[in-house]
Amino acid sequence: MSHVLVLNRNLYAITVTPWERALTLLYLDHAAVVDDEYRVHDFKDWVELSKTIAEHPAGFIHTPTLRLAIPEVIALKAFDKVPRQEVPFTRRNIYHHYGNRCCYCGRHFQSSDLNLDHVVPRSRGGATDWSNIVTACIPCNLRKGSRLPHEAGMKLVVPLSRPKLRAGVTLLARAPIRMRRSWQRFIDNIYWDSQLEP
Ligand SMILES: [Zn+2]
Repeated sequence: MSHVLVLNRNLYAITVTPWERALTLLYLDHAAVVDDEYRVHDFKDWVELSKTIAEHPAGFIHTPTLRLAIPEVIALKAFDKVPRQEVPFTRRNIYHHYGNRCCYCGRHFQSSDLNLDHVVPRSRGGATDWSNIVTACIPCNLRKGSRLPHEAGMKLVVPLSRPKLRAGVTLLARAPIRMRRSWQRFIDNIYWDSQLEP
């Protein structure tokens, strides 16, 4: 069923939600619909506007008294911060974060040709989290083995970093979701929720 992109008050994408939930937020006046021209409509406006819309990409719901276009994008009224969320530490998100590059040689690889590397080896107490894991191609990974980079005569050309869910830059999305064209101008970069990661 169709999902709705949820923006904060500053029109930064923060999440997606099922359309039923979006309509509830709209009805309760916790959110307003954002149209293609960045105009914002509260529930009453949207009811009126829906009467004039002949076709709508997300379709309509019908009740005995009204026909309402299902919004594609809504903006929350009170919530102006990106929720504090960590990007889940998963293989797919790590590859995405490092742009499918090997952090030692800097070259791009297919996911199937990359490994995850503990910068400080596990045998020396290195953690398995964003603070110590990088992507490495198979030759670099083999060359490094369970040594520190400098012991192997290597260095990180792509430094260790942790993805941040900055407003407008990154969206934690839940799969499986069909992206809508109307969302694209609000979204630059997507990480996936770990529970639903394929
Ligand atoms: Zn490499």
